[in-house]
Amino acid sequence: MLIYLNDRFVKEEEAVVSVFDHGFLYGDGVYETIRSYGSRIFMRDQHLARLRRSADAIGLTIPIPEHRWPGLLHEAMTRNGVGTDRVDAYLRITISRGAGDIGLDPALCPTPTVVIMTKPLTPPPPRTYRNGVSLVVAKTRRNLPTALDPQIKATNFLNNIQAKREAIAAGAFDCILLNWESHLTECTVSNLFFVQAGRLCTPALACGLLDGITRDIVLTLSRELQIPVNEGYFGVEAIRRADECFVTNTSMEVMPVTVVDGQPIGNGTPGLLTQQLHKYFVSNRTRFLEP
Ligand code: PLP
Repeated sequence: MLIYLNDRFVKEEEAVVSVFDHGFLYGDGVYETIRSYGSRIFMRDQHLARLRRSADAIGLTIPIPEHRWPGLLHEAMTRNGVGTDRVDAYLRITISRGAGDIGLDPALCPTPTVVIMTKPLTPPPPRTYRNGVSLVVAKTRRNLPTALDPQIKATNFLNNIQAKREAIAAGAFDCILLNWESHLTECTVSNLFFVQAGRLCTPALACGLLDGITRDIVLTLSRELQIPVNEGYFGVEAIRRADECFVTNTSMEVMPVTVVDGQPIGNGTPGLLTQQLHKYFVSNRTRFLEP
């Protein structure tokens, strides 16, 4: 793998970062995960805009000007033989505060570290879409937005990792995190949706969750399909009573959830509306690719 590090592409074994990097020392940085369909990047500008918002929120100046990003992402794909007709690409941009003396002051780090990694995208196995996946409700609560805003896509991911450990221990695909008021928020790397009496429900951003780019598309497509949408505040019992459930993110698209805390959702198979939305997503996705 050739990795873009700071100002050039280097071989994987040469792509090393200082132990003084505050990304390593403190989780002080931001990131994005992006994908392509063939050579065209999905929601490229929206991902780059979210990267900028995350960086702004932590007072980090991205050292690469906006206009250079599309070219750099494509160069990363081309150099690694991904983002072709046959191989969709997974891309990860990481920007950390950079190397500096030990201490919390960002001014200790004059130069941010920039990394772009890319590899073939590995989608979840087809059986997960056919059968749906299982979730558990985690004991770990989602970060309080006034402590660390979940809308910042930060390299400090311990909140989600603690929750993921719970999911792994329970043998589940992933887990649902509740917020400080026991409202549903999201899963460790995806947004959460459920269907109740024909209405598509998803936790409001104010519950403290990442404003997922796929979440936004699913809401748009649902409105196009005239499916009533309810972005709101929900407790865990709303999921237990739901007829259908699914999660979304850039690499999974729309993933049906058929079990929560060991109990079936609806009849325990992927729901009709979930499947309709995923089909509509697939047939419309060229609208969301870069030209
Ligand atoms: N929520 C969290 C915590 C995530 O990390 C992600 C993606 O990585 C998402 C939701 C889904 O976001 P997107 O649809 O932009 O991939």
